[in-house]
Amino acid sequence: MTATASGCAPTPLPAPVLFRAGCPHCRSSFELSATALRLAIGASARTTFYSFTCPECDTAVRKPAGERIVELLTVGGVSTMRLHGH
Ligand SMILES: [Zn+2]
Repeated sequence: MTATASGCAPTPLPAPVLFRAGCPHCRSSFELSATALRLAIGASARTTFYSFTCPECDTAVRKPAGERIVELLTVGGVSTMRLHGH
C-alpha cells in the first residue's frame, strides 16, 4: 500500500444552507435553515408557496414561491409537500 501525500488543499466545510426571509408582520428579516422552511407545491404557481414561522414574532408566514424559489428550496433540502388539487 502506498500512502499518498496530499497537498495542502483546504477542505471546504459543508456550510449549512441559509435562506433569507422577511416577516411581513414585524418587518424583521432573518436567515432560516432548510429545516425551518416548508415548501408546498400545488397544481399551479398560484398554489405553490413556502411557509415558515417568524423567529421574531412567532407568526406563521406564507409566501408565494416562484419556479426559481422552488428550485432553490428543493436543492437546499427544504422538505417539500405536494398538494393535490382537483
Ligand atoms: Zn415577524
